[in-house]
Amino acid sequence: MVLQKLIKPAWDTPERTREMEMTLQDCADRTGFRPTKQTYIKSTWKLPITNVVKDFIWKIQLQLLKCRKYFTKMGGEWAEKGTCETCAVTETPEHILFGCTLNGGHETWTEAAKLWRRSSEEPWTDTSLAIVSSLGVIPLMRGSQAGAQSANDKRYQILVSYVAWTIWKARCSRKIGGIEWDPQKTASGL
Ligand SMILES: [Zn+2]
Repeated sequence: MVLQKLIKPAWDTPERTREMEMTLQDCADRTGFRPTKQTYIKSTWKLPITNVVKDFIWKIQLQLLKCRKYFTKMGGEWAEKGTCETCAVTETPEHILFGCTLNGGHETWTEAAKLWRRSSEEPWTDTSLAIVSSLGVIPLMRGSQAGAQSANDKRYQILVSYVAWTIWKARCSRKIGGIEWDPQKTASGL
């Protein structure tokens, strides 16, 4: 058991591995490059972003964000919080950042793409949860290599991680803080 702990990192549980494998496969399908689990996680800490946003991405990778299972495991009246009350679906990180209309995700990603197009000749790479959680390890720009750190890679990493973080904060203000949130407000925070 002790030896197993030395070989296996604490995050390497079957449940986490299953979701992580799906993300890594999504990376492979989109970019033709499949990172290992270890490089996938380590790369987040090398991103040119603040520690609080790194921590947020790391929590997406390890399924540690306070949503869905976090609440269902608490049981009782908390269990209901695992569901998005308006959309009546499990409130996954994917739903929060890309699917839910309450957090202003759609408007904020649209604004981010506009900002990118105004300031870069590189085409905008459409985002997904897999892209957000593997920003530090997958090739981001057309023709770039895995782990490449061109100026455009870094700008994309900063913009996309910050947008995801902004949407997450909006969701937490609304859902945890109990603030009545206008979804249009999220994009204005960019
Ligand atoms: Zn929703």
